[in-house]
Parts: sequence; C-alpha cells; structure tokens
Amino acid sequence: MDLRSDFPFWLLDKGIIHSYPSLQQHINTDIVIMGAGISGALAAWHLCHAGFKTVVVDKRHVGMGSTAASTALLQYEIDTPLTDLIRLRGERDAVRSYLLCLKAIADLEAICSRWPEVAFSKRPSLQYASYKKDVSLLKKEFQLRKQIGIALQWLDKNAIKNWFGFEKEAALLSRDAAEVKAYSLTHALLHQCKQLGLEVYDHTAITHVAENKRGVELITNTGKKIKARKLVIACGYESARYISQKVQTLHSTYAIISEPYSTDHHWHQNALIWETNRPYLYLRTTEDNRILIGGKDDDFSDPRRRDKALHAKARSLEQAFHKLFPAIPFRTDFKWAGVFASTKDGLPYIGNLPGKPHTYFALGLGGNGITFSIIAAQIITQLALGKSNDDARLFGFNRP
Ligand SMILES: Cc1cc2nc3c(=O)[nH]c(=O)nc-3n(C[C@H](O)[C@H](O)[C@H](O)COP(=O)(O)OP(=O)(O)OC[C@H]3O[C@@H](n4cnc5c(N)ncnc54)[C@H](O)[C@@H]3O)c2cc1C
Repeated sequence: MDLRSDFPFWLLDKGIIHSYPSLQQHINTDIVIMGAGISGALAAWHLCHAGFKTVVVDKRHVGMGSTAASTALLQYEIDTPLTDLIRLRGERDAVRSYLLCLKAIADLEAICSRWPEVAFSKRPSLQYASYKKDVSLLKKEFQLRKQIGIALQWLDKNAIKNWFGFEKEAALLSRDAAEVKAYSLTHALLHQCKQLGLEVYDHTAITHVAENKRGVELITNTGKKIKARKLVIACGYESARYISQKVQTLHSTYAIISEPYSTDHHWHQNALIWETNRPYLYLRTTEDNRILIGGKDDDFSDPRRRDKALHAKARSLEQAFHKLFPAIPFRTDFKWAGVFASTKDGLPYIGNLPGKPHTYFALGLGGNGITFSIIAAQIITQLALGKSNDDARLFGFNRP
C-alpha cells in the first residue's frame, strides 16, 4: 500500500534516526511483531518490559509507514462522540472506551518523560461547534462527559473570542490531551528496548504467516524462517490482508505545517483545536513554534488521486485557517498526505481472530490511532502473559 506522500515534515525534520539490519538468519523467539510503526514499537516496549524475548520486523525502515505522516494529536475524544458511541455500543462499553483513552494519554506521558526529543507536551483540547445546529450536540456531550468524571469546561461565544480569538457559538475545552513526535517516539522506544534484548530487523518483509498448535511460523522475502510462540500483527492499515472480515474503510487525509513563528503563544495554552463537523479540521502547534493544520479528508485512498489533490488541499487548509485566525499569517512550509482508516464505531480492533489463539492484532485505526496503539500494547501484553483482560472485549473482532 502507498501509505503516504513522499515528504511528511517529521521525516525531513529528523531523517533516519536509527538504522537496523535486514534479517539474514532463521530465528526462534517468544514473540515476533510485524510492523515497526508506533503500534509495533509500543507493543515491543510493553512486551520487553514484561520479560518476553521479542523480535520486531518491518519491510520498510522503522517508522516509515503511516507513523511518519502522523500529526500526532493525542486525545481521549474518539471520532465517534460519546452520545453516538453509547447508542452503538451501550453505555458501559462506550464510557469505558472513553476512559481508557484518557488513561492512555497519562500512560504515554509517563513513558515519554525519558526522552525530551519526542516533544511530548500536555495540551488542552478545544472542540468547537462548527455550526449553530451543533451546539445542542455539544451540550449533550458536555453533560455526559462531566458525569463520567472528565475534566472539561463549557465555553460560550465570549469565552471563545477572548481565549482563542475566533467566533463560534460554543466549544468544549478538555484539560487532558497532548501532542508528541510519533516518528521520534517510535525510534526512541525501539532503541531503548534493545537494552532489554529486543532485536529489530528492517527491510524484512513477511511473505507467509502460518499458525500451528505451538505457535507461529513466518517466512521472510529472503526465505528466512521466524518461529515464535506468539505473533503481533501491527502492520497498520496493511494489516487488513490478514483479516477476512472488513474492519476498516480507507480515506485520504491532508496536512500542512507553517514556517516557525517568533511567538510561542498562538492561542490559549496552544490547545489542540478541532470541531464537530465531519470530516473535521484540526490544528495544533509544534515545539518549534509552527502551526500544523490537518483535515479535508477524501473518501478515496487511491495514492495518485490523493497526491494530485495535495496542492489544492493545502490551499483549502490555509483558507480554513485564515477564516478562523485572519490575524495570523499562515505561510506553508511543508505539506503531505496519507491514507487514513476509520471503523464502524470509531474504535480499534485489538486481540485474536477466532481460531487463531497465537496471533494478536494491534490495529490503531481511527483518528485516535496512537492513543489506541498504547491500549493495544497493554491488552496484548496481558493476554500474552496468560492473564484475562476485561477490556479486550471492547475492541474484539466479534463485537456488534
Ligand atoms: C496525515 C495523518 C495524520 C494523523 N493524525 C493522527 C493524530 O493526530 N492522532 C493519532 O492518534 N493518529 C493520527 N493518525 C493515525 C496514526 O498515524 C496511525 O494510527 C499510526 O501511525 C499507525 O501506526 P501503526 O504502527 O499501526 O502503522 P504504521 O506506522 O503504518 O506501521 C506499520 C508497519 O508495518 C509494516 N508492514 C506492513 N506489512 C508488513 C509485512 N508484510 N512485513 C513486514 N512489515 C510490514 C509497514 O512497513 C509499516 O512500517 C494520522 C495518520 C495520518 C496519515
């Protein structure tokens, strides 16, 4: 799959942070992880810390799949509003899903605190009503989220104007969100895990996967065998080829990033900003004082159409920004596009397929892909340890 256009900002900014060899011998291990993006790296981190002998393989360089393109807003707010998720999945499961995402941000903060270079920063998150008609939806969300203990404020027109400088009828300001450099974090996680015995092989494509009674056997593009007790498939949107049921719908998404500004204060606490409209526009700032804007999603994933649309999409994102913040001159420095996958309820797929007890999927699908990746890593580690995990059911393949 052509996952992204060639030059996302993070790749140009950091280049290849660490290189790894391709696999040139047969190996035996406890756990093999296919995919060295943020999902595979977080799974490796948790599994290595749980004491498993772990191997990660990737057909690209580390982090060069969707992770290199990620704008990496970390939010507890799932693409499906809590009101809708309750309707789709029932109150208990919907509330638990939201609370797990909230916890995931705190868990990620604890991991990231070791590495200043991954630029993890806590931020508030502002969701504004795109249209007057969305105010009542937002009000319902406000009440429901407050009831389950999420820290957030209702902002009226005046408060939005005073704190953010633009005109919208209403907005929710949540306390707990964050941003991170997902590409750098992926490298940091894997590099650090080498001290715990992790082996990483890039430029190693898995061409054959078979599960037997005792575990799994994988074959690489050069005919090398990997035997393991358990397999974690963390191949991002390319994981779909290992699943017979349809779990994802592919889209194209676009992002632009400005030149750095001399000010480090653009709006209230440099909050992450998004809206009620679908597909939504979103904004954030970066540690080097740039402004990042994303959205304008298309419901196709053809890479040629996507990359051809990039220039016009960048203009359209600039215009959307200008409408919100006419006083901030936005000068685009980089633009890129990527594949993006949604699910029927906005939640990821995590865990085993029926009849495949040795293969776990860690599919961080949806707008909260990275938040879901840490939840996947935690659940899979528990399952690999032979422990039950009550939350696995929420993200299972046989859910309604
Ligand atoms: C433009 C954009 C903006 C985004 N913004 C956000 C955001 O703000 N917040 C958020 O949480 N998420 C966001 N996402 C989603 C997020 O980036 C993804 O959820 C996340 O990067 C997926 O990581 P992954 O490790 O699962 O997949 P990937 O990073 O794609 O990694 C999977 C890896 O598997 C490897 N692989 C595949 N098949 C094989 C094989 N057969 N053998 C060996 N290796 C294989 C690939 O080479 C790849 O490196 C965004 C995505 C895009 C494109």
